[in-house]
Amino acid sequence: MRLRKVKNIEEKIKQCADVIVFNPEQQKGKWNELFNNNNPIYLEIGMGKGKFIYENAISYPNINFIGCEIVDSVIYKAATKFQKNKPDNLLLINIDARCLKDCFEKGEIAKIFLNFSDPWPKSRHEKRRLTSTDFINVYREVIVDKGIIEFKTDNQHLFEYSVVSFNQNNLDFLELHLSLHEELKEGEEDRHIITTEYEEKFKGLGQPIYFIKVRFK
Ligand code: SAM
Repeated sequence: MRLRKVKNIEEKIKQCADVIVFNPEQQKGKWNELFNNNNPIYLEIGMGKGKFIYENAISYPNINFIGCEIVDSVIYKAATKFQKNKPDNLLLINIDARCLKDCFEKGEIAKIFLNFSDPWPKSRHEKRRLTSTDFINVYREVIVDKGIIEFKTDNQHLFEYSVVSFNQNNLDFLELHLSLHEELKEGEEDRHIITTEYEEKFKGLGQPIYFIKVRFK
């Protein structure tokens, strides 16, 4: 995600403590205490500027949402957007998803969203792809039994790679669309799709959005 550098980001980000959970490792096993309820927790990894997670939190008040973003200046943008009107069921964490195991107990997360993840096209960067075996093994350590991953991308190569990776890692396929918005128009007209910033951009360009929903066994 291309973004102008934010001056004094370390200082500024500290002012977002009502939205961003600093030291998320200290919440391991205790996220429901922080949310003050026992509702399921859905996690978006690589949430960018946060449109998707924010609109989900507003639309589904009985679910808790956590947005994870590795880049300081990006999470800061999202946090400042939500600060004035943050729903109680939304929190953000500024970590590399590789470290999720340090922050969540097995079973603390009910669903994971991967939206328009960086494609990392070079094969030497395969391990950085959020649908690689290494990452799937991290997700397995924090998600409930039969937990769900929903994945959206505009990138055909990442889509094909992810189909193979989910299959090789023994996940069950529940849904697969080669052009999510078009296919739902023809079928489930009533299903409301909450879009991301990237999704809006690619939809606007007329590009198909690939979608995969899988379940851990
Ligand atoms: N999901 C948003 C959307 O669809 O508009 C943003 C998509 S952007 C292409 C991918 C985002 O994932 C970037 O903001 C990037 O910093 C973040 N990201 C990449 N690798 C990550 C990781 N290992 N852990 C957490 N965030 C990551």
